[in-house]
Amino acid sequence: MKLTYLGHSAFLAEINGKKLLFDPWIIGNTSATLDINEIKSLEPDLVFISHGHKDHGFKEAIDITKNTNAKAVGVFELVNALKEKGGKGIGTNIGGRLNLDGVEIYVTHAQHSCPYSSPCGFVVKYERKTIYHAGDTALTKDMAILTDLFDLDIAMVPIGGHFTMGLTELPLFNKMVKSKKYVGMHYNTFNEIGTDLNKAKQFVEIMEPGESCDC
Ligand code: ZN
Repeated sequence: MKLTYLGHSAFLAEINGKKLLFDPWIIGNTSATLDINEIKSLEPDLVFISHGHKDHGFKEAIDITKNTNAKAVGVFELVNALKEKGGKGIGTNIGGRLNLDGVEIYVTHAQHSCPYSSPCGFVVKYERKTIYHAGDTALTKDMAILTDLFDLDIAMVPIGGHFTMGLTELPLFNKMVKSKKYVGMHYNTFNEIGTDLNKAKQFVEIMEPGESCDC
């Protein structure tokens, strides 16, 4: 699997030709390394949207799914809103499992707020690689269930605090959610989520926007 960090909470996971895009906030994202046309030309298969706050790519997902073969995945009400604006997608809900062309998806609880119903996170499994994108969330004990349900290869977790869990919660997160690797997201893009990256590196890997890793 090749995982590319696109800045803020946006990632592209490529597994055996399958392209899975997460929270592709591009417009107005000072840490984005690709513009919206470059994102579209990647021809993603699925676009996961954790919730309707603008820094998670709802608008971009409409554009991407309108103009490529990609389908958005998100909670029912969010995907309905996306479809009303001309996008394509599959609505789901927390605790649901889906299999889309061999991509196994489990929708996780995320403790946060947002327009278009509930926020969520995703566990996505394809070809024996399992990744968890937590979305925007507080640390909750519910997360521990993921260790029982899955053998996670990567957990992408918000570390910026203020709007989500932050550095103080990371040791407990790592204890509850077992994963081979942890990657930080949702930090330093706004003043409120400025983060001490040296501290963060004790618990998560910090990728530069545009950086890829083979995992
Ligand atoms: Zn949010």
